Amino acid sequence: MARKVLVLGEVRDGQLRNVSHEAISAAKTVAEGGEVVGVLLGDSVQPLAEELIKNGADKVVVVENEKLAHYTSDGYAQGLLAVIEEEQPQGLIIGHTSLGKDLSPKIASKLHSGLISDVTSIEVTGGNIVFTRPIYSGKAFEKKIVTDGLIFATIRPNNIAPIEKDESRTGEVSTLAVDIKDLRTIIKEVVRKATEGVDLSEAKVVVAGGRGVKSEEGFEPLKELANVLGGAVGASRGACDAEYCDYSLQIGQTGKVVTPDLYIACGISGAIQHLAGMSNSKVIVAINKDPEANIFNVADYGIVGDLFEVVPMLTEEFKKLKV
Ligand code: FAD
Repeated sequence: MARKVLVLGEVRDGQLRNVSHEAISAAKTVAEGGEVVGVLLGDSVQPLAEELIKNGADKVVVVENEKLAHYTSDGYAQGLLAVIEEEQPQGLIIGHTSLGKDLSPKIASKLHSGLISDVTSIEVTGGNIVFTRPIYSGKAFEKKIVTDGLIFATIRPNNIAPIEKDESRTGEVSTLAVDIKDLRTIIKEVVRKATEGVDLSEAKVVVAGGRGVKSEEGFEPLKELANVLGGAVGASRGACDAEYCDYSLQIGQTGKVVTPDLYIACGISGAIQHLAGMSNSKVIVAINKDPEANIFNVADYGIVGDLFEVVPMLTEEFKKLKV
């Protein structure tokens, strides 16, 4: 059954986040040959519409409003609900990012619809669209189908492959004027934490440090390794609590959930709350002095040793491969 499926394009620093392209790919599966409509909300976001089309959207609806220049759940909900009212889709896909996690329950409650959150794969089996999502902190997966009403899901970044970009693709871009009213939150200024480089939640390689890193300076070799691999630096809560790094780097149950192609855990014991944020990484390498550390139970490759010896050696070897 062909469906019309909306995808919210998530914009950060004037760029579309990768998860938006992954969401288009997910929407194609849900649409089953129907129409995939990108939605852009913001101020001066129209130039990004072509990008969504080249990445697979059939059409894009743009809502430009200065009150949408910064994300607020009130403002975005009004913008997105107006597009939903206009387009009457049968499906809606949003990235399971901080924005998506905040916005999607609000949209679902306004529409009185269900919501399948944190989806890691979607397939069509036996005439059903089957959504797979992790449960019990990633120890098991459940499969869900929607039997009635809007098919609404948020997708975990880095899990659903985007479709190949086609520079020659064309599609309709339209604008919708929405009067955004009664915002209860007004963003005056956005002050970024000083985290450089690749976005942790979308990184293909994550080098994470735990309490074993021992100090703020102890993170330097990890940063170097991440740099050589084009990855991002993450941390356990142990390292954040010890003030070796900022909480924005925390991975786990109460931090970020990451699914990179390669996760290198350095001096992290592997507490269940940490595993909740990284155990679905495609390849896990653990470096720990303690051969009994729990992190080795989820690791594909384990290195028993001192991270201050092992990490620089890895960096040097990867540098050679890059030359
Ligand atoms: P430790 O457990 O102290 O482990 C340090 C490891 O470093 C040890 O295994 C040690 O052998 C190794 N080591 C030491 N020196 C070296 C060296 N030179 N070379 C190599 N290895 C070395 N934790 C999270 O990470 N994320 C969360 O989101 C999170 N949420 C939580 C939520 C709740 C409600 C609770 C109760 C806890 C949460 N925790 C979370 C905390 C979690 O339980 C652990 O305390 C924490 O993950 C431990 O961090 P760690 O592995 O860095 O430290």
